[in-house]
Amino acid sequence: MLELVGAAALARALPASAAAAPTPPPALRFTRLTWAGIRLAAGETTLFIDATVDPSEPGSAPLQASTPERHALVTHFHGDHCQPEALKPVFNARSRLVCDRDTALRLGDREVPLLPVALYQPEFLSPRTADFVVFAVPASDGLGSPQVSWVIDGGGRRVFHAGDTQVHGHFWNIGRAYGPFDVAFLPINGFRQTLGRTTRVPAPMSLTPEQAVEVAQVIGARRVVPIHYGGGSQGYAEVPDAIGAFVKVAKAAGLAHTVLAPGATLD
Ligand SMILES: [Zn+2]
Repeated sequence: MLELVGAAALARALPASAAAAPTPPPALRFTRLTWAGIRLAAGETTLFIDATVDPSEPGSAPLQASTPERHALVTHFHGDHCQPEALKPVFNARSRLVCDRDTALRLGDREVPLLPVALYQPEFLSPRTADFVVFAVPASDGLGSPQVSWVIDGGGRRVFHAGDTQVHGHFWNIGRAYGPFDVAFLPINGFRQTLGRTTRVPAPMSLTPEQAVEVAQVIGARRVVPIHYGGGSQGYAEVPDAIGAFVKVAKAAGLAHTVLAPGATLD
């Protein structure tokens, strides 16, 4: 309230033209990229998460950034989440690809500088501006690869990006320690991938639509933006009409959600 009073007094003290200045840019802007990719912008920093470029995907385009600081997070090294070569054109001398240490071991000879981090520890991006604070938290990769999810604090908002994790027990702790979240980007396609094996995969290898809604409630997500659906190739099977199923279950549960097409923006 004190701030509001102060702001009103300041507005009265300014000339009319200054008081009617255009509204400032949004504190945090989200852009959905293709598949699991998201771009966030706050202050002087653009932050890419699982950003990939795939010309065969609708809406996929070369990555772009207009802020002086640019960094990237990846949840794991699989090619549908981690493409250092796609980041290279938007990186500058200060940019870092932030990942957990086990993922860094697998990216050691790649094309962009890495910043390996430990679980649960805050990392400030950029170091000079601290527009974003990010924390790597546990995830469960359906193929047994190292994988983390990301808690991201920036622009006065708290965000969760779950990569393509399966359901697991750490969601309780993540919600308790870092929630609630203004927006959670959750995978919904519940894929099963055989990779040439003949045995049936015993459990979905990413969250299913129903699990995504339940996880959102566990971590305290006020809004979900679904990611990681609508693909598929030989040996890779998704839940049929994953996005339709997600919207139906989310509505029934009263969970706020926004379906963003690749390239679409949310302030
Ligand atoms: Zn994936």
